[in-house]
Amino acid sequence: MNSTKNKLNKKSKMPFNINRKSFLGVLSLAYQEIIDSFLTKTKIKKPKEEEVLDLVRLKATKNDPKSILKIIDAYAYRKTFLMNIGDQKGLLLEQAIKDSNAKNILELGVYLGYSSIRILNSLREDSKLTSIEANEKFARIAKEHISIAGLSKNHDLKIGTSSNLITELNDPFDFVFIDHWKDLYLSDLKLLETTGLLKKGAWIFADNVVLFNLEDYLDYVRTSSDYSSKFIPTLREYSKSHPDGVEISIYKL
Ligand code: CA
Repeated sequence: MNSTKNKLNKKSKMPFNINRKSFLGVLSLAYQEIIDSFLTKTKIKKPKEEEVLDLVRLKATKNDPKSILKIIDAYAYRKTFLMNIGDQKGLLLEQAIKDSNAKNILELGVYLGYSSIRILNSLREDSKLTSIEANEKFARIAKEHISIAGLSKNHDLKIGTSSNLITELNDPFDFVFIDHWKDLYLSDLKLLETTGLLKKGAWIFADNVVLFNLEDYLDYVRTSSDYSSKFIPTLREYSKSHPDGVEISIYKL
């Protein structure tokens, strides 16, 4: 993504046929989740998130973030889907972190710490990441992944619901990565605005805006005069056919 900043002035629209295809993408994910949940409940296998942690413990090179990302990607491509941002959109996220020159970053939705590792590995030495995850089990696994990656120093992982924890934050952010519950994207963005937690010029990077058809969110950031917004079409994480995309919006107030 060369000079994303220059491309952010144009408001863009999704391709018109993308929703049906992305619906099939959601269906295929739901099918995989049902199978995995059945195998876990019948104790045929461990939950996939614990299998990933076992693999990272066993195979990752300590203090080598890329070795951990590689293990997680390989699992998601070859075994079972994982709701990480994935290797392709992950590069867009890393580039956006670098282009924005962000010092104080907020991440909503951590899962296994995959995107946290990508963000932390792209940060400047004097920058920091605050991450919020509602699921205690996922947060514990993420914390260990980030620790094995050697990236815990500039990281604060908070466990709880985003709407509660956002109101306890004080230091305004210049980059927000949104990747948690899809019906919370818009309400949490508005909460960040009203609590004064968005710096002027803050970048908001929202994942899965096509996969989950986030029309309300997109409508808001694309029509509000407070934002300059750009859509980047991608494929869904770990898929070679299902469409997805990210929306990068710059807060102008
Ligand atoms: Ca995602």
